[in-house]
Amino acid sequence: MKSSTAGLGDGMVEIHDSARIQVWIDQDLCTGDGICTDHAPEVFTLLEDGIAYCLEGDKVFNDPGGSAELATVPVHMEAGVIAAAAECPGECIFIEVDEPAEALAPAGAAPLNA
Ligand code: SF4
Repeated sequence: MKSSTAGLGDGMVEIHDSARIQVWIDQDLCTGDGICTDHAPEVFTLLEDGIAYCLEGDKVFNDPGGSAELATVPVHMEAGVIAAAAECPGECIFIEVDEPAEALAPAGAAPLNA
């Protein structure tokens, strides 16, 4: 399995090709500067209230937003989302990595879903 790493603040995030990432924003902490939309315009948008929300295609996650709604990140936007989270001045972009069950099984063990 191929994997890559990307910086996120002081730490590193390892992302396997088989993993998908999802993202949400805590709007209570958002400053509305738009750094996230610069990095990943297909995943983040600023609405009329001056606050950033996540996108998934045409769907805007503003009902209610926050942790209640996770947007799946297109593979080609993953690096941009990670960069946005690292640079977000509100520290309010949260990334969740969805590893498939077989990726979580110990080495040599049968896949969990076998
Ligand atoms: S980078 Fe962070 S603080 Fe700035 S608009 Fe996006 S979510 Fe809000």
